[in-house]
Amino acid sequence: EYVGIDAGGTLSKIVYTNGGEWGYKKIATDRVGEIREWIYEQFTNPHIHITGGKAGVFLQELSGAAKNVNEFEATCEGVNWLLEQNGLLTQIGSRFMVTNVGTGTSIHYVQQDAYERIGGSGMGGGTLLGLSYLLTGEDHYDKILELGKNGQGEGLNVTVADIYSHETPPISGDLTASNFGNAANRKEQSFSKEDYIAAIVRMIGETITTMSVQAAERLKTDAIIYIGSTFSGHDTLKDIIKGYTKLRGKQAFFLEYGEYSGAIGALLNN
Ligand code: ATP
Ligand code: MG
Repeated sequence: EYVGIDAGGTLSKIVYTNGGEWGYKKIATDRVGEIREWIYEQFTNPHIHITGGKAGVFLQELSGAAKNVNEFEATCEGVNWLLEQNGLLTQIGSRFMVTNVGTGTSIHYVQQDAYERIGGSGMGGGTLLGLSYLLTGEDHYDKILELGKNGQGEGLNVTVADIYSHETPPISGDLTASNFGNAANRKEQSFSKEDYIAAIVRMIGETITTMSVQAAERLKTDAIIYIGSTFSGHDTLKDIIKGYTKLRGKQAFFLEYGEYSGAIGALLNN
């Protein structure tokens, strides 16, 4: 019985197998006591491998009967494994970027079995939750997702075409020139909660794409694999990133179970 845990700043991702089927489970990291109980209910003799920023909390809770695995290595190993399982290695090749959008965002470069963390940003899933709360008062994740899907964030932004109003813009006029840049110009206009959240989602998606594309350009690779729980069930964010990555000449990939990459890599580590 093998259990891999990626204890992140917000969510803990758990994968487990007894040689046959794999199981996947997600739970808030601050419910560590419940996770411990669940593991000892399910398994009699589990080999537990833990990664993520909160791994230490778990190691304490499990009284040392677990192995700590480096988060960045685990994440990239897990991505490699998922690509292999999904038959995508031939399509993507052995060199690609991994952008992990968790509470915050980390960007990695993978070349076969060599992994390097290229950079990161505080713009991540936590930003989505935090700014949504500040602008709308909503703090339930599912509610925020739902509202954002039904909003039109564009009115809050300044586009390139808005700025180049009297001549042909030097770059596509549809591009965002300034996220939320229109808010103060339109004081009379009221925006809905839906619009605010849609604009936040767009800002996060565009910013993460820009960082990822620039990193991919520097490393001369075309494939960017986006993972992290921030994408689970979030088609609008995926669409923004997919479209914008393509516009910038790169290719975006989203993996089923991508958010479990760290936990998978930890489990496989020996
Ligand atoms: P980090 O890697 O930065 O330490 P993490 O591993 O906890 O953080 P993920 O689990 O990849 O991060 O993603 C967390 C984000 O996923 C949240 O910030 C939120 O935007 C989103 N999310 C998805 N489902 C939920 C949920 N049920 N509850 C809270 N946030 C959720
Ligand atoms: Mg994480």
